[in-house]
Amino acid sequence: GGGGQREFDYFNLALQWPGTFCQRTRYCCSSNACCRGSNGPTVFTIHGLWPDYNDGTWPACCTQKTFDEKEISTLHDALEKYWPSLSCGKPSSCHGGKGSFWGHEWEKHGTCSSPVVGDEYNYFLTTLNVYFKYNVTQILNEAGYVPSNTEKYPLGGIVSAIQNVFRATPKLVCKKGAVEELHLCFYKDFKPRDCLVGSGNLNDKLASSSSCPNYVSIPAYAS
Ligand code: 5GP
Ligand code: 5GP
Repeated sequence: GGGGQREFDYFNLALQWPGTFCQRTRYCCSSNACCRGSNGPTVFTIHGLWPDYNDGTWPACCTQKTFDEKEISTLHDALEKYWPSLSCGKPSSCHGGKGSFWGHEWEKHGTCSSPVVGDEYNYFLTTLNVYFKYNVTQILNEAGYVPSNTEKYPLGGIVSAIQNVFRATPKLVCKKGAVEELHLCFYKDFKPRDCLVGSGNLNDKLASSSSCPNYVSIPAYAS
């Protein structure tokens, strides 16, 4: 890796649940469908592909390469749909200034992924391909975990449903008892592996490592 940081150990595909994220930014986005009531996405969308270390830390901002939107123009439609920015503020880039969500993810995480995935175009293409391979929204829906503003679901059941298909343990991130993110982890060859979730039996692991309570919600958009 560049920047004097050692190469990462594994990938974390961080997905976000718009129904939860948009509870704080519902009416704000201007240019795309994000967070706008019935126009908002009803699937987990991409937050980023993050290189991680086995000790729970991660490298960031590994090279001086800045984001160039032209390099990913052929992916633009897919990224708008599956990797939308649900936030209104502009994130800071690695090298000062403010940029897009995509630019932030490429500079912070993508540049550290480069030893394995290659350049900016290949970072985004690889992330989309991995995302399409595992449809976590469908996996959860088929197991009965459908968006609802009244139901709460057992965290262990959600994790088991993913494990049954993905064959490795995901990590859930919650905000106020609602699922905000779902992380799928991969070896560098993109074979599934467990995310870091503590030790012991599944319930202990989930309890010790998760920001989620035992029963969680998967909110639908408020109408
Ligand atoms: P938060 O504090 O909201 O969980 O995370 C803030 C930011 O830190 C994330 O958007 C991401 O850039 C980075 N981050 C959080 N957790 C991880 C992780 O497990 N791996 C990596 N690589 N970055 C993370
Ligand atoms: P991370 O938490 O990945 O380091 O940083 C995410 C940055 O991108 C934050 O500054 C956040 O405001 C901005 N951002 C823009 N759109 C989104 C989005 O849809 N989800 C998240 N988590 N952050 C977004």
